[in-house]
Amino acid sequence: MSTKYIFFTGGVVSSVGKGVTAAALGLLLKERGFNVAVQKLDPYINVDPGTMSPYQHGEVYVLDDGSETDLDLGHYERFIDISLNRVCNVTTGQVYAEVIGKERRGDFLGGTIQVIPHITNEIKRRISLVAKTTSAEIVLVEIGGTVGDIESLPFLEALRQMRSDLGRENTVYVHVTWLPYIGATGELKTKPTQHSVRELRSIGISPDVIVARSDYPVDDDLCEKIALFCDVTRKAVFPMITTDVLYEVPLLLERLGAGDLLLQRLGLEARRQPDWKDWERLTRDVRRPKPTVRVALVGKYVELHDAYMSVREALKHAAISLGVEVDISWVHSAELEKGRGWDVVKDANGVIVPGGFGSRGTEGKIQAAHYARENKVPYLGLCLGMQLMVVEFARHVLGSDEVNSSEFDRSTPYPVIDLMPDQKSISDMGGTMRLGLYPCVLQPESLAAEAYQQKIVQERHRHRFEFNNAYRESLQKAGMRYSGLSPDGRLVEIAELDDHPFMLGTQFHPEFLSRPNRPHPLFVAFLKAVRERAGIRDENLELKEEQLRVEG
Ligand code: GLN
Repeated sequence: MSTKYIFFTGGVVSSVGKGVTAAALGLLLKERGFNVAVQKLDPYINVDPGTMSPYQHGEVYVLDDGSETDLDLGHYERFIDISLNRVCNVTTGQVYAEVIGKERRGDFLGGTIQVIPHITNEIKRRISLVAKTTSAEIVLVEIGGTVGDIESLPFLEALRQMRSDLGRENTVYVHVTWLPYIGATGELKTKPTQHSVRELRSIGISPDVIVARSDYPVDDDLCEKIALFCDVTRKAVFPMITTDVLYEVPLLLERLGAGDLLLQRLGLEARRQPDWKDWERLTRDVRRPKPTVRVALVGKYVELHDAYMSVREALKHAAISLGVEVDISWVHSAELEKGRGWDVVKDANGVIVPGGFGSRGTEGKIQAAHYARENKVPYLGLCLGMQLMVVEFARHVLGSDEVNSSEFDRSTPYPVIDLMPDQKSISDMGGTMRLGLYPCVLQPESLAAEAYQQKIVQERHRHRFEFNNAYRESLQKAGMRYSGLSPDGRLVEIAELDDHPFMLGTQFHPEFLSRPNRPHPLFVAFLKAVRERAGIRDENLELKEEQLRVEG
């Protein structure tokens, strides 16, 4: 079969869940037996989000192959449980860099380089790469921003051309819009949706499907009205009411008939019946009242929760599997330095310090690690959180406040976290991060090995600095265990403390591999310790005991 494409555009306003909609529809198709992949086209000029402030862009999501991508790729991977690759996130910056590079090499033989066809051809080439580099039969393509943005015009033009290139049976346009609610009259308005569809039409794209997002129930008359004004069939209007349970979105779209409609439009027949048992159980478990554990997330970008999207989701996945509700307290590490916010940390049953760059707030994170170690509070350090846990422990063992990572103090006499010797020359040239999947060998009799129940695992990395091996022995003698190492033994991947219920840090980012139905083992192990600290009994254990009583 030829590759099928579903294109997602946004109307009215951004941030209404276009990425989640695309991810959920991808799952509907996968459940019908098709291989799918999702691609995000970002109209900004940066080459990738790797250098953008999390305040502007939220989390940088890292893939197996080490590409630094938009956080929507996290939604795609989590919902559909697939691994995407580098070509699945395209930016205007990448497109122009490629075309200008070719022009400089003389590849265009003196031609005038223009948005149409050169830029649009490059966009289309990149869209076609998804099917070539994955096994996808259906490719879902989401365009960032909303229709009407100047920047997204070349992308929309490329999508318009793809219908004539590939035919109507191979392309579907889905437009995701927002229905504002007017409080005074108590009604939902479709006018902005009509306008954005008109805008889309003026570019030459007529949507086949309208996903109308709303915070309030949308009645049938309103759907009829949207269908009429936007020139789609009534069956192709999907009113998507905001839900408090993110992972319910695929179920809602399924109930609206979205999966069958898309297949029909693409001339495909389902290869199997979708099986929603796991997802239904998942949403039931989320809604079920459960005992609450509190985790303090000590970070630098805590005002914007999207900056730690994968960490938050990984915590939620683990919590569901353990039958608890996790209440995350967002603590600003720079505030801790000023003595503020400690009540929140002290009130929590566990502390998590996520990844980060730059020195602002690092001392506050070190203080949080210190508090967790001394008070035997469960601690999970992710990348920078692991490095600072090592710094804190080494300050204690070596008896000096000058211990640091050379990222934050170049002239520290005790650089327990440092660049590797062979990295130093490279770093001067600028390209320096260890990115993507690397193997990690687990050491027996450790919290990590017990959590994973495996000998070797692969985890995603995004960092420059490493544990300095000159300090391995002294810290080990004092009670630090290197429970995960690179296969050659040179790199410390996981460190944990012996004399503590759970104090563990990973040089990698386990949060990127957690899935709603497959929580990450380290997050589960951490939350088990948190649950114990909160004095909550293990439900499964209780059930087992009950069973034994009945049988005995
Ligand atoms: N800044 C640290 C490093 O580059 C940690 C990076 C991270 O937390 N992702 O090594």
